[in-house]
Amino acid sequence: MDIIGGGIAGLALAGILDPERFAVTLHEQRPELPSVGTTLAMWAGAQAAIARLRLLDQLRDAGTKLASGALRDPSGQAMLSMEGDTLLGIPRPALLKLLDSAVPTTVQRVTGRVERLPRDSWLTVGADGVHSVVRRTHWGSRAVARPTPVLAVRGVIPGNPSPEDVGEYWGRGNLFGLAPAGEGTNWYASFRSGPGPDQVDVPEALDTTRRLFSGHAAAVQHVLAQATAETTLAQRIWIAPPLARYTRRNVVLIGDAAHAMTPNLAAEPANP
Ligand SMILES: Cc1cc2nc3c(=O)[nH]c(=O)nc-3n(C[C@H](O)[C@H](O)[C@H](O)COP(=O)(O)OP(=O)(O)OC[C@H]3O[C@@H](n4cnc5c(N)ncnc54)[C@H](O)[C@@H]3O)c2cc1C
Repeated sequence: MDIIGGGIAGLALAGILDPERFAVTLHEQRPELPSVGTTLAMWAGAQAAIARLRLLDQLRDAGTKLASGALRDPSGQAMLSMEGDTLLGIPRPALLKLLDSAVPTTVQRVTGRVERLPRDSWLTVGADGVHSVVRRTHWGSRAVARPTPVLAVRGVIPGNPSPEDVGEYWGRGNLFGLAPAGEGTNWYASFRSGPGPDQVDVPEALDTTRRLFSGHAAAVQHVLAQATAETTLAQRIWIAPPLARYTRRNVVLIGDAAHAMTPNLAAEPANP
């Protein structure tokens, strides 16, 4: 079996398959695991999958429990509060490292970008993300990912936020989130920017974020005042349109190759 893509989905699959039953080749274009990245929020379902890989304790050690938070209006007023220990924030590089450690040594690793899919494989798994080559090859050019008018801007600043500021601030066509991450604060903003180039200019995106959220709560202003272009990532969000089926003959799509979504997990927003 060939798994194309060693991101979250590909590594998790390679880690869960019984080496006694499956001879697996894992193809990943990146020569090394990433060392930088922001925090990924993981709900109970994702944590249950990690538990099946027997990595839950290590995940909890590496992550930050988000015990309370709220959905807020732009002024910070809570609309819906959340208590409990269901949500965990984990730095993406730490998650990838953990998943990578669960891949059995019997899995054959091939480093390099796959452009032409293996012909003799009895099963090809497309775990190659939103711009999936597997999807394009087997579902055709009409199924390829398309850009949305949404930008995601995110980063980490030093210092934990006050517990009463943690959560997501929902405005009209935009959202801003902040939560503790280790010794720092993980923040993210998402908003419609209109169609534009795929390469996003980070200082410009940060300026736009500051302007768009200038009427938001003091906690949001505080984060954006601390953020610098060097500690900020900005990207256009792409989605992979839904397919009637995610399998075709001996090919299957998983993860973002199957269903990459916008940050609100919803359908593609209409153009402003
Ligand atoms: C801004 C943003 C914030 C997000 N926040 C969260 C969050 O808080 N919680 C959450 O659960 N999800 C979040 N997501 C979604 C989450 O990041 C994705 O769903 C997840 O990364 C998908 O994993 P994947 O393995 O399917 O794809 P990817 O992570 O894209 O991995 C694909 C892998 O395949 C490799 N690859 C691609 N093409 C080839 C090729 N041709 N040959 C060889 N290798 C190839 C890539 O190098 C990569 O390693 C967020 C997404 C974005 C954009």
